[in-house]
Amino acid sequence: MERKLVVHKVNELLDTFCQDCFLNKYLRQTYGKNHAQRFCIQQCSVGDELKTYGKMLVSRDS
Ligand code: SF4
Repeated sequence: MERKLVVHKVNELLDTFCQDCFLNKYLRQTYGKNHAQRFCIQQCSVGDELKTYGKMLVSRDS
């Protein structure tokens, strides 16, 4: 996938799901930033998708 399209997809996901995510806000306030971040990476399907796109961008850079 073209780099520009990957960046677009990432921004779209962040804007649509993450920007006003109540779950993330709750977890940050209750358990802290690291816990919230871990949840995003390990347990959220949106976070999983972001991880996949992130890997695409990193593999292109190296
Ligand atoms: S990755 Fe999931 S839990 Fe984390 S901010 Fe985005 S939508 Fe919310």
